[in-house]
Amino acid sequence: MTCLPFYIPAEKKLKIVIAGGGYAGITALVIFLRHMPDASITIIDPRSQHIKITHLHETFRYPLQDILLPFSTLEKRFHCRHICAELALEESTLLQWQNDKFMTIQDEIIEFDYLLVATGVNSNQGNQTKKTKNTLNLNDFLDTAGSDLLNNYLTKNNKDEHCISVVGGGATSIQFLFEISHFLRRQKIKSKLRLINGEDRVLKQFPESLSRYIETRMDEMDIDFYPNTYYKEQRANTILLEEKGLKKEFSLPSALSLLFLGKQSKNLLSANTFGQVIVNQQALQSIFTAGDCSVYHAYGSNTMTAQSAVRKGKLAAHNILRNSGILKLLEPYLHCDLGYVVSLGPTDAVGWLGLEGNSIGGTAALLIKEMVESQYDLLLAGIDTYRL
Ligand SMILES: Cc1cc2nc3c(=O)[nH]c(=O)nc-3n(C[C@H](O)[C@H](O)[C@H](O)COP(=O)(O)OP(=O)(O)OC[C@H]3O[C@@H](n4cnc5c(N)ncnc54)[C@H](O)[C@@H]3O)c2cc1C
Repeated sequence: MTCLPFYIPAEKKLKIVIAGGGYAGITALVIFLRHMPDASITIIDPRSQHIKITHLHETFRYPLQDILLPFSTLEKRFHCRHICAELALEESTLLQWQNDKFMTIQDEIIEFDYLLVATGVNSNQGNQTKKTKNTLNLNDFLDTAGSDLLNNYLTKNNKDEHCISVVGGGATSIQFLFEISHFLRRQKIKSKLRLINGEDRVLKQFPESLSRYIETRMDEMDIDFYPNTYYKEQRANTILLEEKGLKKEFSLPSALSLLFLGKQSKNLLSANTFGQVIVNQQALQSIFTAGDCSVYHAYGSNTMTAQSAVRKGKLAAHNILRNSGILKLLEPYLHCDLGYVVSLGPTDAVGWLGLEGNSIGGTAALLIKEMVESQYDLLLAGIDTYRL
């Protein structure tokens, strides 16, 4: 057991419920067990496996199995319990749980001293976008490897005549785009690939130098780029698009659309600077939140990234322990983004490090991405190397 500043444990062995076993939830689990090995911890998650989702686009190269960690393995490794269920999280329910300190799941009463809500967010499916048999979105890749999904689709249809459209100019979309481009080359499939983006450049939230690097690589890989263009609909063999501003509709040949339209920002939980959920302007003393589903009213970063999710998970766990201890001195959330790297297939990446203007590309960026992923792998083995 290691020392946590401002934490003098009280006698009580804590009962903790973690809703959501993603990046934030699992980080908190590791931290609890590090400082209170005899805590009784229950993870509630509707999935049977933790997904290392930051590798999802790599399933065009590796089996999906490589990025799944069954909760049954985590139960054994960390002596916790997993209940396969989806919690309905409404403000009234949170208030009730804060008062009752128990919840009922599948007719079982689960008591807790603290609840950590780390349920992430759903990907955006778009307002008008209909899911058809020739559209894929992020959820499809959670069940089947990218290579299998695309192979299944291409073998059912005449593969060389295809145009494949990738929609969205964010990091997820770009990572999938380059993996697909490399996959098609490896498989010697001549399908044409294009990117549709509603903004004038890719990765609009990042410095322009990153967008230029990516757009040059797209050009080299013969990927067509349609900036300032909105996706309307994928039809039988065409995609319906709209020019931004002019509102002029047009269509292009397209057999398949992959939609990566960002994350939904509804039903997020407000939290104070210590990670305690705020309902009706009151901080709930026993209910904390972390990860994509949380917005901290604090100096620290609220970006919907694994980086922030891990830092919030760690802070929330520390503050739950401190709140249960004798001093009850909590730590504010101050984490600033350290950088961000977007992978561009197996051999290239681009991003920034330290300061947003400090761009990195190629091998250096790839190495940093691998280091960051290894750090999370260590955490899953119970070793916390996150210092910042
Ligand atoms: C392809 C891809 C690549 C990415 N690459 C990067 C990257 O390189 N760097 C980076 O920083 N970020 C990256 N991200 C973003 C990052 O993965 C997310 O920000 C991070 O996973 C958020 O962690 P979380 O714990 O909040 O949510 P998640 O990891 O999404 O976990 C949420 C968990 O909650 C469970 N859950 C959902 N609803 C309920 C409910 N009602 N009750 C109980 N459980 C529930 C879910 O089943 C899930 O297990 C990437 C995302 C994608 C999709």
